Amino acid sequence: MTEQTLSFEAEVARLLDIVANALYSNREIFLRELISNASDACDRLRYESLTKPELVAGDGDFQVTLSVDAKAPSLTIADNGIGMSREELVGNLGTIARSGTAAYVDALESKEEAADLTQIGQFGVGFYSAFMVAEQVEVYSRRAGEETGWRWCSDGKGSFTVAESEEAPARGTRIVVRLKKDAKEFVQADRLREIVRTYSDHIAIPIRLEASGNGEAAETLNQASALWTRQKSQISDEQYKEFYHHVGHGFDEPWMRLHFKAEGVIEYTGLIFVPSAKPFDLFDPTRKHRVKLYVKRVFITDECDELLPSYLRFLRGVIDSEDLPLNISREVLQDNPLVRKIKSAVVKRVLAELKKKAEKAPEDYARFWDEFGPVLKEGLYEDPDQKDKILPLCRFHSTAGEELTSL
Ligand code: ADP
Ligand code: MG
Repeated sequence: MTEQTLSFEAEVARLLDIVANALYSNREIFLRELISNASDACDRLRYESLTKPELVAGDGDFQVTLSVDAKAPSLTIADNGIGMSREELVGNLGTIARSGTAAYVDALESKEEAADLTQIGQFGVGFYSAFMVAEQVEVYSRRAGEETGWRWCSDGKGSFTVAESEEAPARGTRIVVRLKKDAKEFVQADRLREIVRTYSDHIAIPIRLEASGNGEAAETLNQASALWTRQKSQISDEQYKEFYHHVGHGFDEPWMRLHFKAEGVIEYTGLIFVPSAKPFDLFDPTRKHRVKLYVKRVFITDECDELLPSYLRFLRGVIDSEDLPLNISREVLQDNPLVRKIKSAVVKRVLAELKKKAEKAPEDYARFWDEFGPVLKEGLYEDPDQKDKILPLCRFHSTAGEELTSL
């Protein structure tokens, strides 16, 4: 197919206009966003390959590779994940899928001062942050199992092109960020090391920096093990926080975290956060929770409705089961006794932890209640089994004063 030029959706064009002109000091977060996408793409292929092993034939080692060209100057981020078909390139990198993003763009536009783009990933538009540092972005991609590869290219000014390309990787995506004159720092190995350690250390697959020649070996920049499998004592608050940002697409400080391992009849690890501020989709009519399900470190789904009740949908994080079969389909999950057991145990754990907070740190608990009280209260009528545990967690304004009281 010959090259076609397509326009960005209006919302995207507005966003790109803001992104490209942002005088924003934390521009390095574009790399966090691109690495996060690369890692998601590998997770998705790993999951698909459980039922279609031929998709990863000969190359089951997932990784993200960074390489630089100091002369151009450009920075390349490559992954051997699921890749994108032509339709996916056009749909994912040209339109905005999530509701709520338009409001975010409105808010950014209405600000007089420099726009704060820290939260961009939260709105499902992290990819576009590349245009903070890029004059031009090229995306070469080939979807796993498909023959044809594609090149998507844009300077972020209203339109992009797509064309068939022989240069696409055998599988996955390669993004070439052609750096603006004032963004040459992103070809420096030291700078890239520092950024990856700060924002992406928790990514579970290796992030490698390709050597610039001279027979040097590629260097792995991150620890490359799933954060929740590490010992608590080996994880810093900063690392927990970055993981929360990645997994929860939230950019606030987590208000509370629970990292636990259950080792009884059923075995699973959980790393779960309560945000400090309302996620923008908290009152979305779907009322879906956002905790991801893994089985033995393999990402299975972030849409396992049965894993947590709607009244705990403010939670972010992962649950990783040792007992569920790896090749479990999303349909089978819907009525699974093991999932039900995990759910009930996790609900108990979360409610118990909230109770501790409510008793030991009432003022801090009041902050939580302000944000999420109305959601938690839904449990009073939706979950008769836990009603007795939820009621003591509820706070009410009393006529006696400003303070919140329990019943
Ligand atoms: P989000 O990651 O929150 O969905 P982004 O703007 O970062 O939002 O990315 C938009 C979409 O583009 C992703 O959901 C994904 O479908 C697709 N995408 C981006 N980068 C890649 C990649 N490296 N491989 C495969 N798909 C990708
Ligand atoms: Mg993303």
